[in-house]
Amino acid sequence: MAVINCPGCKKKISDKVKTCNHCTLDLSELDSDQLASLNRVSLINKTQRLMNFSFVAMLLFCGGFLFMFRDNIQPDTWQHNLAMGSAILGFFMYIIIRVMLLFTKRKAS
Ligand SMILES: [Zn+2]
Repeated sequence: MAVINCPGCKKKISDKVKTCNHCTLDLSELDSDQLASLNRVSLINKTQRLMNFSFVAMLLFCGGFLFMFRDNIQPDTWQHNLAMGSAILGFFMYIIIRVMLLFTKRKAS
């Protein structure tokens, strides 16, 4: 008996069960083609979600950066700290998301 990921909900299930006990997907009716296309769809969804997150991260980074310079904020005010924090957070989020995307794409090929 082996443990596999359910193609529907990605939770761990036994490969011997006929239906997933998390999302009640009927595994016995799925052939390998359908399994492959389900996997492809979920991979595309995951990639799309990561792309959206990286866009948000980019906005945080650019927003924080622009805010810091455009409004001529004095250092050591909460506005300055907020803008700086936003830029730093956005930067690291962006890097982490790009790395995750890289791994997701490598898994796909
Ligand atoms: Zn499931």
